[in-house]
Amino acid sequence: MSAIVSRGTSDLIVAIATPSGRGGIGVIRVSGTALEPLMRAVLDAVPSPRRALYSVFRGGAGEPIDKGIALFFPAPHSYTGEDVLELQGHGGPAVMAQLLKRCVGLGCRIAKPGEFTERAFLNDRLDLAQAEGVADLIEAGSEEAARSAARTLTGEFSGRVHQLTDGLIDLRTHVEACIDFPEEEIDPADRASQERKLQALTLQLETLSAVASQGAVLRDGLVVVLIGRPNVGKSSLLNRLAGEDLAIVTPVAGTTRDTVRATIYLRGVPIHLIDTAGLRDTEDVVERVGIDRTWAAIKGAGAALLISEAGEMAGIEEAQILQRLPGSLPTAWVYNKIDLYQPKSVSRETSRQDNNVSLYVSALTGEGVEELRAWLLETAGWQPSGEGVFLARTRHIAALRLAAGHLQAAETRSAQYELFAEELRLAQIALGAITGEFAADDLLGEIFGRFCIGK
Ligand code: GDP
Repeated sequence: MSAIVSRGTSDLIVAIATPSGRGGIGVIRVSGTALEPLMRAVLDAVPSPRRALYSVFRGGAGEPIDKGIALFFPAPHSYTGEDVLELQGHGGPAVMAQLLKRCVGLGCRIAKPGEFTERAFLNDRLDLAQAEGVADLIEAGSEEAARSAARTLTGEFSGRVHQLTDGLIDLRTHVEACIDFPEEEIDPADRASQERKLQALTLQLETLSAVASQGAVLRDGLVVVLIGRPNVGKSSLLNRLAGEDLAIVTPVAGTTRDTVRATIYLRGVPIHLIDTAGLRDTEDVVERVGIDRTWAAIKGAGAALLISEAGEMAGIEEAQILQRLPGSLPTAWVYNKIDLYQPKSVSRETSRQDNNVSLYVSALTGEGVEELRAWLLETAGWQPSGEGVFLARTRHIAALRLAAGHLQAAETRSAQYELFAEELRLAQIALGAITGEFAADDLLGEIFGRFCIGK
């Protein structure tokens, strides 16, 4: 991998690393080369490596801006692999702004989102999957997701990918050594051993894909369309569903999820609910935009919940919405408030048909809610196993699938050594994309651009 200097990215960057607003402590982080002049100007000293220095932070005229802790991490033993300085001052927006301005005055450039982590990647401090783990850990909305992201961040996922890659390289070495020999000169024992190795690798890849898929479910969850008239108990049911697993979270602004009414977490899996209330015909242009957006979001949904009161039919508007949904969308017909009915007055048999299920619940008493929770998790693809999940992204799953495809192709071509070798090479490249060994610049831009500032 290219060193940072050759990419010309060793200029000094600075950012406020803590969230905006007021807090006990605010952290400014600087990374680059030749930090000494800046440290002398701000601290009157160069702190000893990795030792806290309690010091005044000085402005351009020598005036104190703040007093706090300075930490100096000389290259290469730092987050970015470059010289890094952290100034831990008081967490007020005005103090932080002054310190930031001071660093800019001393030659720093304000860092782009994810630029510290990008430098860490370029300097081999972590690989691409680990860097994504950093962002996913920060973004994690549940403890389970956070724990899994931490596993990715510490290299558990990458370690498994490397193990596979090493196996592939070993097999490729064997196969390539045979290429120059005519078919009949190759020892049948060698051939059998290659096939065994290929099978073992395929199995290893399948296991890894299964765990990674669970990681992707934990990260992305399930988008669910919520249909139901007012007062049928939608809010009560959502609260009951979320239970102790954690509260309803506000929508994430500026994404397609801005039509989401709520996100609830079931065993840590995010369930994003899109409310269809208000999806009615209208002449109002502004309202129309919102409605179109909701329909666009519905296209990406993985399931629908049609909630009505037990013993009542769904309304016309709900039926119309339901009609517009793809027929293949897994749908749960949820009949709420069964506590209000005598046991025999409503048939409460859970029934399943294709992707559809009828469930009888009471948000008030909790009856039947566990079944609904189980259905949602099953539809999301969540199959908890004993193994610790590491957070993974769709691109990782795609890369693993691609690698599996090449291993499969290799199996069918084991009699033609050149083709066999080529498929193995392509499988290795697919795996390399996960850890960033073979990653295009635009992919890197896409990944790091989504980080928060200061990370
Ligand atoms: P929404 O408008 O669909 O979100 O409905 P709400 O959740 O606000 O509930 C409407 C009313 O129905 C409230 O008074 C709830 O207390 C009541 N309710 C909700 N679920 C149940 C239930 O399972 N049983 C009974 N008896 N009442 C319920």
